[in-house]
Amino acid sequence: MAAKNQVQFQPGLSLTAFLDRYGSEQRCREALMKARWPKGWRCLDCGHTSHGHLRRRDVYPCNRCKRQVSLTSGTLFAETRLPLRTWFLAIYLLTQH
Ligand SMILES: [Zn+2]
Repeated sequence: MAAKNQVQFQPGLSLTAFLDRYGSEQRCREALMKARWPKGWRCLDCGHTSHGHLRRRDVYPCNRCKRQVSLTSGTLFAETRLPLRTWFLAIYLLTQH
């Protein structure tokens, strides 16, 4: 998967509405999850749709073949240690003006 901006915000979204929706790390994770897997999580190797979550390493292992996928791998967020909400705010500010 090519690294690109997979998060898009609706045009004209106000800053307060943005913060309501994406103001927490958890909200941003959910939004990125939906952007990456719009039809639900799917294993890249075997196509299985059931997965776990290893909190310490923050990866989603496939329940069948055990391949591990991180939420941010293959996205522009992969190489960063910044919180997702920081990125979301930056993208919002860049795309709304
Ligand atoms: Zn699998």
